[in-house]
Amino acid sequence: MAKTPITVAYGDGIGPEIMKASLKILLAAGAELEIETIEIGEQAYLRGLENGMDKHAWEVLLRNKVFYKAPITTPLGKGYKSVNVTIRKSLGLFANVRPCVSYYPAIDTRHPMMNVVIVRENEEDLYAGIEHRQTQEVYQTLKLMTRPGSEKIIRYAFEYARANKRKKVTAFTKDNIMKMTDGMFHHMFDEIALEYPDIQTEHMIVDIGTARLADTPEMFDVIVLPNLYGDILSDVAAQLTGSVGLGVSSNIGEEHAMFEAIHGSAPDIAGRGIANPSGLLLAGVAMLVHIGQAEVAERVHNAWKRTIEDGIHTGDVFRVGRSREKVSTAEFTDAVIERLGKKPELLRVVSYANEPIMNAVQKLKDRPKEKKDLMGVDVFIEWDENGRSADRLGERIKALVNTSSLELKMITNRGLKVYPDGSSAAFHTDHWRCRFVSPTPITHAQILELLQRFIDANFDIIKTENLYYFDGKAGFSLGQGE
Ligand code: NAD
Repeated sequence: MAKTPITVAYGDGIGPEIMKASLKILLAAGAELEIETIEIGEQAYLRGLENGMDKHAWEVLLRNKVFYKAPITTPLGKGYKSVNVTIRKSLGLFANVRPCVSYYPAIDTRHPMMNVVIVRENEEDLYAGIEHRQTQEVYQTLKLMTRPGSEKIIRYAFEYARANKRKKVTAFTKDNIMKMTDGMFHHMFDEIALEYPDIQTEHMIVDIGTARLADTPEMFDVIVLPNLYGDILSDVAAQLTGSVGLGVSSNIGEEHAMFEAIHGSAPDIAGRGIANPSGLLLAGVAMLVHIGQAEVAERVHNAWKRTIEDGIHTGDVFRVGRSREKVSTAEFTDAVIERLGKKPELLRVVSYANEPIMNAVQKLKDRPKEKKDLMGVDVFIEWDENGRSADRLGERIKALVNTSSLELKMITNRGLKVYPDGSSAAFHTDHWRCRFVSPTPITHAQILELLQRFIDANFDIIKTENLYYFDGKAGFSLGQGE
């Protein structure tokens, strides 16, 4: 078999110890790897590279496409950018895949049957970091979700399920509240599910879904989620397995991929030879499956399972009564190598298939462009006069536009309709949304003319948001109480 080029970073803290151990096992099992090493992390930060990596490291990453990364230390202090975020964004690693598996009876857990894979969208949602302070009192973050981005991650989850012989994919959203963004994600999920009749599907609202996951994780198989929910859920799920230190994170893009343990660089135990290499080793197993060396991945994973089943444990998972022998990193490494070719007897035997899943994920559905009509505008203003009386504001704005072709439909405060006939009990902040609509399509020039009236009347316009219809369907949500 031809060797696959990979980039390796030994990282900081316990990184070098566990990377050395993991590579020793992978190579002993027959992994065909051409390893090129880069230095990233603490030393690079301290040399003044604010994103923790130099140009050469970046070139190697781009060339090799597959990155096996030990944990790094982000020095405390301002101005350092996370290497992970930089790599994830720059290499287009859109999918974060985290298998969360219990290893009972080898390792204690409250959920012995748990075997869930979290597939998290990794590039969109609230993580664009587009934030503004708009008024004295109000701050905003934009939640941007795209149809192609959602389609890609959902199809990835289904392809992953099929390739790994999993039976069900569940989507979590909050589309009862966010009908546009999460609503679109849910809609895409329903649409793409039709292409996979062999796989069961379900959708849950993220809050109840999380509660169920915490209570009965064995009812889930693969869960696909938008970025923020996925960020939270993947940590919850890892913790529930009872062995967060063994967790694996695969970051997958169309061309590039990065594999790592979910724990950090553990500076408190660095250099003592006692760190558990399992998280990083299992990340190596995921990497081998990704590069088409499924057989070797299987050999390593089964030998590792046999080792922990035999009660050979590093200090972090050692329990009197359950464990047999407390070992160092090097002893654990040798114990796994001794068991290569063996299978676990109590734990489930692993089998992987060399099924490339990215080809299917790359093709997006052809969608005709929808007819887009501009039918109104939301004008957001800061206003803090007249005791913040919604009626007083409403009358002023109505007078302002009485000759305009746009009609004032309503004013909302924190999303709640406060004019006309609004609720008066709620607290009003200094941030108001004035919605103007027209029964027929309007032009941008008409919006500018409307804004000029606001300016002439000395209103502070914070921003505007156009109201569009797509093929006759509103592309905006209604105000609460509208
Ligand atoms: P940590 O995961 O490094 O350590 C938390 C606790 O778990 C410590 O007590 C540690 O000794 C123990 N632990 C972690 N991994 C272990 C292992 N393999 N074997 C045995 N014990 C282990 O989290 P932290 O202390 O919050 O972070 C330390 C540093 O790691 C920080 O600089 C942080 O920024 C960085 N970090 C890096 C990554 C990454 O590179 N992906 C992820 C998380 C944290």
